[in-house]
Amino acid sequence: MPELPEVEVTRFRIEPFLVGRRLGAVRTTSASYVFLTKPAALRSRLRGRAVTALGRHGKYLVAALDDGRRLVIHLGMTGQLFSAAATSVRLLSASTRQALAPEEQRCFRPDVHTHLRLAFEDRGPEVYFRDVRKFGKLLLLDPGETTPRLERLGPDALSVRGDLLFEASRKRAVSIKQILLDQSLVAGVGNIYADEALFLSGIRPGRRAARMTRRECDRLADAVVRVLRRSIETGGSSIRDYVAPDGNDGAYQLERHVYARAGKPCFSCGGPIRKRVIAQRGTHYCPACQR
Ligand SMILES: [Zn+2]
Repeated sequence: MPELPEVEVTRFRIEPFLVGRRLGAVRTTSASYVFLTKPAALRSRLRGRAVTALGRHGKYLVAALDDGRRLVIHLGMTGQLFSAAATSVRLLSASTRQALAPEEQRCFRPDVHTHLRLAFEDRGPEVYFRDVRKFGKLLLLDPGETTPRLERLGPDALSVRGDLLFEASRKRAVSIKQILLDQSLVAGVGNIYADEALFLSGIRPGRRAARMTRRECDRLADAVVRVLRRSIETGGSSIRDYVAPDGNDGAYQLERHVYARAGKPCFSCGGPIRKRVIAQRGTHYCPACQR
């Protein structure tokens, strides 16, 4: 599933193909749970509008339009937002790719999974939203309209600070990992990044949040930002179906210290990385390096 770094990588790669361009024809697939706004309404309201900005909050992308409306996009599990100018056969799953003839493998053609096709008045490359498993979402907000999907989110994880984690953990009888994964406190920290940040800050994921000191909260907030930034720099993780809009696999998995390394030696102390369920998630940590 795309996590915050992958969504941010998507944002800055697709931004030049969206911002400043005026939409021409808009095509969609038929109504499905991808469409929180009806496909017909999306087609008629988007046409002729210019995209003025592409922002991100947690794992939501928000495209601002020149009429004050906002198009909210969530990539779900397998959603991809990419330009026809930067497509690659690697956008397709391995099985799909193998089913294609060699000449078909050279460029992407919109298929039944391409739920939104944006053409532009400049007749330049189209932009596609494609989602095989359809857990992604498309929602068009009227000027001034809000949605609980965005409203209920805490500050974006890239701006998290120690004082926020400290305050949030005071009255909670939960683990610090639970705090990190609570999207209403911090938006966009997923399981991998929570485990990695806790390792880098030397804190056990199962530690009771209320026992965290202010100094530890500062260290943890720094680690969250560091691990997310590093992942963004390296192009986002590549997790099964996720491939960046230009077809490049990310490389973050090469740098993982604990995630998906159960039983393997810790890079710091050599002891085995342990895995257990914390905050309802498979959690990886080093019992010697994390306290
Ligand atoms: Zn260790």
